[in-house]
Amino acid sequence: MNGLRRLGRPAARDDTESPAHERTPEGSRSMKHTLVLVLTVAIALLFIQCGGGPDTGGTGLVRVSDHVYAFIAPGPSTEEGLGANAGFVVGSRGVLVVDARHTAGLARELLDAVRSVTDAPIRYLVYTHYHPDHSWGASLFADEGAVLLACPGTGRDLELYSPGYIEYYRQRSPHILEHLGEVRVEPPDSVIADGRAIDLGGVEVVLRCVGPAHTAGDCLVAIPGERVLFAGGVASCGYHPNLGDPGGDPENWLAVLEEIGEGGYRRIVPGQGRVCDPGALDAVSGYITSLRALCRDAIREGVPLSRAVGEISVPGSSGFEQENILSFNIQACYRREILAVVQPPFGIDAPPDFTVDDGGGSAKAGRLLLTGGGGRMEIEARWEPTARSEIITQDISDYLERYLGGNPSIRMEAEGTKRVPVAGDRLSLIHI
Ligand SMILES: [Zn+2]
Repeated sequence: MNGLRRLGRPAARDDTESPAHERTPEGSRSMKHTLVLVLTVAIALLFIQCGGGPDTGGTGLVRVSDHVYAFIAPGPSTEEGLGANAGFVVGSRGVLVVDARHTAGLARELLDAVRSVTDAPIRYLVYTHYHPDHSWGASLFADEGAVLLACPGTGRDLELYSPGYIEYYRQRSPHILEHLGEVRVEPPDSVIADGRAIDLGGVEVVLRCVGPAHTAGDCLVAIPGERVLFAGGVASCGYHPNLGDPGGDPENWLAVLEEIGEGGYRRIVPGQGRVCDPGALDAVSGYITSLRALCRDAIREGVPLSRAVGEISVPGSSGFEQENILSFNIQACYRREILAVVQPPFGIDAPPDFTVDDGGGSAKAGRLLLTGGGGRMEIEARWEPTARSEIITQDISDYLERYLGGNPSIRMEAEGTKRVPVAGDRLSLIHI
């Protein structure tokens, strides 16, 4: 998926619109103070990424360009929609809304914002991806007559994972469930192809299907004529990017960010955080690259996941919102990177309705015990009956010490499964 097609109208960057630093015509001491001030401001802006400043606007309704409006979540709380942004594009033929926010009440705020700008019909709602904080308010726009559009994979994941999210909220964050009320998940009406262009009347919108990156079905919403991009979940400013989705692909995510950086955009509306310029997305690339390197190093050193979760911190992410995402990211990173570091002596087959989950959704915690060859490995795992077949090992230290010990015959037992011997080079899990 690295051969990404470029958008049709790359435009040169226009630095003339950047605010110029003013010089004071005073003495050298003042100049020195000004320089210190400018440097301080520059460092502060680097530190806070996209927060504040004349270029980035605030929260709530932000006019990004002639036809483009962002609706920036004020913060990470449940009441604020978990920090998830939305927006809309207004043409003479109608309105295209980007993402629907987390709840019907938050979607109502967005609809009110649209109506504060235009009475034109809402023709489309585009899902940038399936995550609940971006999609669960969609029924309001469906009721308005909008056609719901999404890239391949998003409708499937909405259907597959939404029940798990509801269960997850029920078990771990009941206050979110209270806030949600009755959830009406809306599947897309139409699955779009990469590069689909929509003429809204005086403004063209181009939809790019670039997943898997943050999720399997990521969609970028470009307004090439105004050099603005809604980047959805692949971009976040001042928030921990979420690398925990089972359908995501960090490798391609980096390629997508590179493409965005070369796209000549003037403004990016990230999935979370303030409106920013493309340079701010370097922080996301740096986060992904650093986290992967840190996980690989820790796996090589035999650091168990339970310790890694407490010890790994990503440079440059101090102060980022939603710090709880970091532990999910480390778990997902371990799961992915372990295969780049060590090769298990056999593969593991799971039946179609058996999965081990990364904790991002509802999951049953349990233990897998692998024994044989004089060694015994204990793996903490979580699983739930869905269509996915995936194993997450959480005790990497044991993995390295015992799993790779060349055990000729290894059998497994797990809560809720039969004990199954390894046959040939495959290990199978079977429900009791
Ligand atoms: Zn997301």
